[in-house]
Amino acid sequence: MLTVAYDPNNIFAKILRGEAPCFQVYEDEMTFAFMDVMPQAEGHTLVIPKYPAEDLLDLDPEYAAAMAKTVKKIAAAVKKAFDAPGILVAQLNGAPAGQTVFHIHTHIIPRSQGIDLKLHARQMADFDELKKHAERIKAAMN
Ligand code: 5GP
Repeated sequence: MLTVAYDPNNIFAKILRGEAPCFQVYEDEMTFAFMDVMPQAEGHTLVIPKYPAEDLLDLDPEYAAAMAKTVKKIAAAVKKAFDAPGILVAQLNGAPAGQTVFHIHTHIIPRSQGIDLKLHARQMADFDELKKHAERIKAAMN
């Protein structure tokens, strides 16, 4: 049962429908992955299910499983592409938890000791850089 009203015009829904641009890294029948436009570290990638849910509590379990599978695949590729010693996987549910875009998504962020994360959803990245990063991740999947 949906606990909240899903807004079909949120930015990730528009990206899924091809109505807004993104730097895509992966797509399958149930999920989609692309670069975060305001990355907290180089390589910050988002995985979303192709299902209209605001958060994990609203998500169909089949899509939750599909998202987890894609997160694992993309996390491995991001780790390889950015030679990252650590990978942060995060998923925020509800504004009080810090969620700002209300289509469920999982963050995949490379981490290295001594390098602090940039602030959440704060600074737009250079689009040429994002494009190159998406290519690096795609290449690491092959
Ligand atoms: P949340 O705060 O909901 O967990 O994360 C939303 C994420 O979406 C943030 O990291 C933010 O930088 C990212 N974001 C916001 N708007 C856009 C956009 O238009 N395109 C992309 N690719 N990412 C976005």
